[in-house]
Amino acid sequence: MTEDAQPNCPFCQIVAGKRPARIIYRDAQVTAFRDINPQAPTHFLVVTNRHIRSISEAQAEQAPLLGGLLLAAAELARKEGLTGYRLVINNGSEGGQTVWHLHVHVIGGRRMTWPPG
Ligand code: AMP
Ligand code: ZN
Repeated sequence: MTEDAQPNCPFCQIVAGKRPARIIYRDAQVTAFRDINPQAPTHFLVVTNRHIRSISEAQAEQAPLLGGLLLAAAELARKEGLTGYRLVINNGSEGGQTVWHLHVHVIGGRRMTWPPG
């Protein structure tokens, strides 16, 4: 685990290899794995390896990491064969966030509707 890892955080545990997950990509900055409760034929999450609680708590000096997170999501979507897809970051309880470790949902393989639920 990195020094900022939270022992009770499920995504820190996945990053550290201490919780099983279907990991599809990992580098020094981010890790991607299949969502346990997929909302579309393709649904995976890209997380920062560092524990950041939410996008609203990200700091300016983390801008390169946040850019890397988005670029990894787009590159993995391409590798998964997705052309149209949706990236989602839920923020806060009202925003639908349930896991307090920053993650981008990559959702595709079916036609998306708008507005989102
Ligand atoms: P959010 O509601 O935006 O915080 O998204 C959390 C997502 O994490 C949900 O889509 C869950 O299905 C997913 N999730 C929770 N625990 C795990 C886990 N252990 N492995 C994979 N996905 C998970
Ligand atoms: Zn965490």
